[in-house]
This record gives sequence, structure tokens and C-alpha cells, in this order.
Amino acid sequence: MPHIQQLSPHVADLIAAGEVVERPASVAKELLENAIDAGASAVTVEIRDGGVTYLRVSDDGCGIAPEELPTAFLRHATSKLRSAGDLAAIGTLGFRGEALAAIASVSRLDVLTRERGAQSGATLHLEGGAPGEVTEAGCPEGTTVVVRDLFFNTPARLKFMKRDSAEATAITGLVTHLALSRPDISFKLLKDGAETLHTPGDGSLQSAVYAALGREFALSLTEVKGRDGDLAADGFVTRPLNSRGSRSMQTFFVNGRLVRSQLLTAALEEAYANRMMKGKFPGCVLCVTLPFDMVDVNVHPAKTVVKFVNDKLIFDLVYHAVSDALDREARPAAAAEKSVRQIQNPRGDFYQSMTSEQFRAQYAADKPAAPPTKRPEPPDVPRDKPKAPAAPTTFRTGIPPVELGELGGRARLSDYVRRESPPPVPAAAVPPPSAPIVTAVAEATPEPVPEPPAAAAEPTQETLLPETPTPWRIAGEVLNTYIVCEDAEQNVWLIDKHAAHERVNFDRLRAQSGPIMSQTLLTPLVAQLGSAEYAAATERFALLRDFGFDCEDFGDGALLLRGIPADIDEDGAVSALEELAEKLANGGNAEPGAARDALLATIACKAAIKGGWKSDERELRELVDRVQSGEVEYCPHGRPVKALLTRRELEKMFKRIV
Ligand code: ADP
Ligand code: MG
Repeated sequence: MPHIQQLSPHVADLIAAGEVVERPASVAKELLENAIDAGASAVTVEIRDGGVTYLRVSDDGCGIAPEELPTAFLRHATSKLRSAGDLAAIGTLGFRGEALAAIASVSRLDVLTRERGAQSGATLHLEGGAPGEVTEAGCPEGTTVVVRDLFFNTPARLKFMKRDSAEATAITGLVTHLALSRPDISFKLLKDGAETLHTPGDGSLQSAVYAALGREFALSLTEVKGRDGDLAADGFVTRPLNSRGSRSMQTFFVNGRLVRSQLLTAALEEAYANRMMKGKFPGCVLCVTLPFDMVDVNVHPAKTVVKFVNDKLIFDLVYHAVSDALDREARPAAAAEKSVRQIQNPRGDFYQSMTSEQFRAQYAADKPAAPPTKRPEPPDVPRDKPKAPAAPTTFRTGIPPVELGELGGRARLSDYVRRESPPPVPAAAVPPPSAPIVTAVAEATPEPVPEPPAAAAEPTQETLLPETPTPWRIAGEVLNTYIVCEDAEQNVWLIDKHAAHERVNFDRLRAQSGPIMSQTLLTPLVAQLGSAEYAAATERFALLRDFGFDCEDFGDGALLLRGIPADIDEDGAVSALEELAEKLANGGNAEPGAARDALLATIACKAAIKGGWKSDERELRELVDRVQSGEVEYCPHGRPVKALLTRRELEKMFKRIV
């Protein structure tokens, strides 16, 4: 047996240092956290060669007294913690008292510091952890730490360093995140002599986002403000049309700390569920604030993992905060008008044959719904102007409490993981980003409005009689798919009629509480399903009835359809049922609201006029009006329904202007 010996303090220090100081970015992190803890209002980071040869952090914080300077470099020396009791309520970023000792032991370090209000400052040099003499020095108030030749005395570790550029990128990421978490502090980053980041420190998150993440990203955002008692979720999220190809622009803070959290990501993305294409991701800077006893930030040493005491509460907070922001973003005026219109004509669709009240009364009495004619004439008067005040119908309260218990509870991880490998999206429906002439619609939407008008909650006489904008002129239809319109400002709009109609159907179905209206068929249909789908469907006849399907088991994988959703024709009904059964067999979306939405989206799609179909003029007019009002913006799968071609763009195309 080899002898057991206690390690020399030097070796023990090096081992400990390895835990704190892994790479230049970890040095920068510790020094920046010290600067923040010191109450700095401006911090500068300067690096050369990715921070390996030179890394400087300067702050204008409280400074260190000359006589305490050597102590700061001893292990377990800290001013932030006095007793074990303090551990429970730590308000600073650091508290272990290890960082300076660890960094000094693997580098050549200089510190220059002057306390606030002191006549002069002091400086100290350490070489591989061995301190020199503290000497008096003239310097500004605050502290500067310069770390040179990191790992000069641990060559093995030096070998593991990544390329300088990778280290510089890691430091940029770090400074960016700290700058976003503290908009009240001005952060500056210099890379090999060039300033690459500089936030104003004016206390506004928006200006920090602008400076740290760039103009383009900042302009794609809409504000989020969510409150639930002690809890808050504030910040910014991308508008649906400004979605991104990855999650790299999602930044979450919990009580000011940067965290990675699948729960927060899920809540964010759930709010975009029907507004964004599959395979696209929202970006965000979201700050969640909650009482300290509701979160454990110490579950991971790097402290980027959090554990919430009540996951559901946090999920709901973020989900609703983001959904509300997106609803508001989708034109507050249109939202107010929509709520009125729904009351006035609750099923203001093309195929209305009875009111939902009549239908529900019948359903409650357990009588089969009177078979509506398949495609009744559209109402003569397309839509009345709303007259009477009415209670508002909001997006969220419109989701009926249909029992989807068997689909599981809260969103599961598998749901968001699935979105990472999306099914191919029909590219033709999306305006190609590179197409110079078709401007993404987002540019035409007005500036984000911070608060919804009070009218959205309580319609007043004014909102009931909105000033009617000049209706878009329908110039025609091209490719049997796109409606071409001209607005009063001489802009050209292209509308994907299938996508728009799908959304109209979806919103209408979703706004109904209770089951979907069914039509009884004179001759039942037969749907032949795969075995898993058949099993899933036969177990859930009650649920299918809620979606308008009156099914009977026909044996051997076949279902007999005696009733189908009133909006769908027979072909559409069979394929909708197949899709529903498949969704049920695969567990559906676990969140009941999302599961219902997914099923409704299937029906909405089947009920929509198809690209390639000839539509009559009234159908087109109805759709164009709804698109113009802003009521319809995305199809339920998140594809945009309209694209803008401005007069200016046209004139540029024809070189009338340059
Ligand atoms: P910790 O931050 O965990 O307390 P450190 O080793 O990082 O441990 O720092 C030791 C002590 O040195 C701190 O507690 C603080 O009192 C002092 N200190 C370090 N950096 C600064 C700074 N930039 N400004 C003022 N004081 C500092
Ligand atoms: Mg520290």
C-alpha cells in the first residue's frame, strides 16, 4: 500500500483552482461577479488572445482597503458571508471566497484598487499565487484585476485550451448575458483592442438588448409583462413571424441569474403553438422573478440549472405572460372588434345553419343534432355591423374545458423535443425570406402597443362602431390559391386563401365551448384504421363525439361514421378522423389545451377551402375582410396568411425609382 499523506497546500490549491478556473471565461465570470457584487455601475472587460495571455476586468465599485488586499487572495476569504446562517439568504453572486485565490494560483495577477472616498489606492502582484508587497498607487476609485499568462504553471491544462476564438466567443456570451441580467450596469468588452460590446447601463432592458443582441433582434421583439401575485415574468419575445431556426436566442433569467430550463423553454414555445411554423423557435429575453423560497438555484455547481418548487405555477405564469403579449401584438383593435363580432354572430362562418346555443341545447338534451344541409347558401348579408354592447370573449377563456384527461397532464419534455426534428413544412406556403419583393408582413404591422386598450376588456360604444377602413379591393385570384388585393394606400397584398380560411375555422371552433356540431349522415361512412389508431379511437368514442364524430366499432380496424363535423365534407371527414386517431394513438399533445388545439387544427384544415379550388366571390370577400382586419394572421400551423408588396417595391422592380 502506498503511504497516505496530506497534500501540500500548493498542490491542494492547484486542485481547488482547477474546479473554479477551467478556462478564461471562468476567470472572467468570477471577476465580473466580484465587480457586480462590489456595486459597480460600469464594468470593462478586455481580453487578448481569447483571454489566455491577457484578461482585465475594471470596475467602479467599492474597492478594497489596502490592508485587506492580501486577505482577499487567501482561500475561503470573503466579505460576503459571516456565519452559517447567512448561507440561507445570499444576496451576492459570490460567497465561497475562493475565486481570487484560485485565479492567482494559476496566473500572473495584478490588482489595483482604491476604496470609494480614499485618498489613494494600492496595488499587489501575485505570481502563481505567491503575493508580493502591497504598495501605494494612484488610481481611480474601484478595482482593476489583470490576469496574465493563465495556466503558465500548469502546462497540462494549457494544452486543453480551445482555440483563442472559441475562448473569446465564450467570454462574449458571458458578458452578453450579464449585461442583459443587469441593464442598470454598463458593460464594455474589448477584444484585441476593438470594442465589441457596450451597453448603456441606463436601467432599460430594451436598450441592453439592443446593444448586446443587435438592432435586428431588438426590432423583432414585443414586450412581455406577466404577474401572478409574488411572481413576475417580464421581458421581450420575438414576434411570431420573426421566429428563428434554433433556440440560441432564448435567454432566461430567474431572479437575475442566467438559467437553462426546459420548463421555461416549453412554456415559452407552447404560447407560440398555433402561431409559428414547426421547426421554428421563438427568441426571448425573459426574466422570471419569484420569492427565493420558491426556487433552488444551487442544484447545479455552474448554477445555470434551477429547480422550481412548483413547476406548474411557473409554467402557467410564463405561458400566459407570453400568450397575452402575442395576443396584444396581433393588433389590439382587431381583437376588440373580433370579440364583438363573435357575440353578434357566434358562428359567422360560411356554412352556419343554427346558433351554437340551439345546438348545445339539443346536445344537452342528448338528441341528435338536426342534420344540417351539407353546404347551405351563405348568408345573404355577409356580416352586420355590430350594434349592441356585449361581453368580451377572450382567446383564452374561449378554450372549452373538454376532458382530455387521458392525454396526460402538463406538457411533457417529449413534446418540445419533438419540435426539434420537425416534419417538412410545405415551403410553397411560406414567402421565401430571400425574395426581395415580398416583404414579411411583420414590417407592416404597427409598432408594438405596450398595453391593450381598455376597450379590449370592456367594449365601449366607440369600439362597437369602429371607423370602417376602406375594404381592400380584390383584384383577382392567381394560381387558384392566392387572392390578390389592393389597399387604400396602394399596397398589394397576397393572401393564401387556404391558410386564411383554415385559421378562420380554427378560431371559430376554438371559441365554441362544448362539443363541435355534428351532421348525421344518411349513409354512414367507413374508416379503415391501423391497429394502434383503431385501438386508440375505439377507447375514446366520447371524446371523438365532442369533436363531431359519431362513431361505431365496425370490427377489424374499421369504424362506422354515423355523424361527422358539420363543417367537413365526407372525404375530409374520413381523413380528419384518420389524423385524429393517429394523434390519439401517439398520445397527442400532453397539455389538454394543446391537445384540443391540435385536434381542432385537423378539423379546421379539412373544413377549409383548398388551394386549387375555385372559390366564389363572397367567400373571397369574407376572407379578405378578416385578413384586412388583422383577425387572421397565421394559419393554425403558424404559416403566415398574407404577404405584402408595396407600391415602392413594385416601382423599384420596374426601375421607376431607384
Ligand atoms: P467571494 O467573491 O466569494 O467573496 P473572491 O475570492 O471572489 O470571493 O473575493 C474575495 C473578496 O475580495 C470578496 O469577498 C470581496 O470582499 C473582495 N473583492 C474581490 N473582488 C472585488 C472587487 N472587484 N471590488 C471590491 N472587492 C472585491
Ligand atoms: Mg467572487
